[in-house]
Amino acid sequence: MHNPVCPLNRFILDTPIVKTQVNGLQFHVKRDDLIHPELNGNKARKLQHYLNLNSPDITKVISCGGNQSNAMFAISVLARIKHWHFEYYLKKLPDQLSRHPVGNFKLACDNGMEYREVESFPELRSTQDTIAIEHGCSEPGAEIGIAILANEINQWVRAKSLTKCSIFLPSGTGTTAYYLQQHSQWPVYTTPCIGNADFLRKQWSLINSDTRTHPIIISAKKPVRFGQLDINHLNLWKSLQQSTHIEFDLLYDPQGWSALLENRSKLPGEVIYIHCGGLSGNTSMLDRYNHFLSKQHSGMNRIDNAM
Ligand SMILES: *Cc1c(COP(=O)(O)O)cnc(C)c1O
Repeated sequence: MHNPVCPLNRFILDTPIVKTQVNGLQFHVKRDDLIHPELNGNKARKLQHYLNLNSPDITKVISCGGNQSNAMFAISVLARIKHWHFEYYLKKLPDQLSRHPVGNFKLACDNGMEYREVESFPELRSTQDTIAIEHGCSEPGAEIGIAILANEINQWVRAKSLTKCSIFLPSGTGTTAYYLQQHSQWPVYTTPCIGNADFLRKQWSLINSDTRTHPIIISAKKPVRFGQLDINHLNLWKSLQQSTHIEFDLLYDPQGWSALLENRSKLPGEVIYIHCGGLSGNTSMLDRYNHFLSKQHSGMNRIDNAM
């Protein structure tokens, strides 16, 4: 049995932009985490054109990627809403996860996702009845929803009569930052969370080799490898929650806020931080942190006992 679907009329399209303070500095946060309880953030924006698609021939959606990916969960919600079958290719699952599904993986399975473990990802092709969605929803169609996001920000800035603004968001594939820059009246700044600055520049150059169309990259002094647990990131995540009363994601946002706070003076005018959602992944990340901390703790105890 699939879960009952949260109705489409629960979608908030023009999400609020709220003023907040972090470390005594003022920021605005675009609350795209509020788009919908399950399908939100930049994945909702990137998938928006499929939501509006009215094509009775389509019965199936296929994609590939990581076993805790936010994109995977977002596609599983889309498939449930559209009554499409969802098939997902992933690398061999860790035993622990296949025995005890958690996080985005469990949520996606509960939504009816059928997964196939493969050595390497097959080339996915759309057919008459099947939509193939790129790894991380990184595809040209994503531009449609991201353009709407850019226009919401453009309009908000005009309504507030602000004269200078910068937009910031953390990047994975860099798709959101790139299309946002194409439709935004303001410079878009980002930081790489997967790979380094060169990876992002290469991704963008595949779309357009003219680097003047690219967003601007800023980096934290000590970037953390994607998915790696880092106590400073955990502490920053907690302090963000305390100062803003907004829950951020644990995978991208700590890297994003680190880069932003360290480089705030480089960004002209008011700064708008795009909340890209992803909160569904926080339970499995917190599980990992708790496990990690309890292991560290027992390790310290062992040292104590030996002394
Ligand atoms: C997917 C994701 C990103 C990165 O988006 P890209 O378009 O791949 O750069 C950033 N933050 C969150 C929370 C995400 O889920």
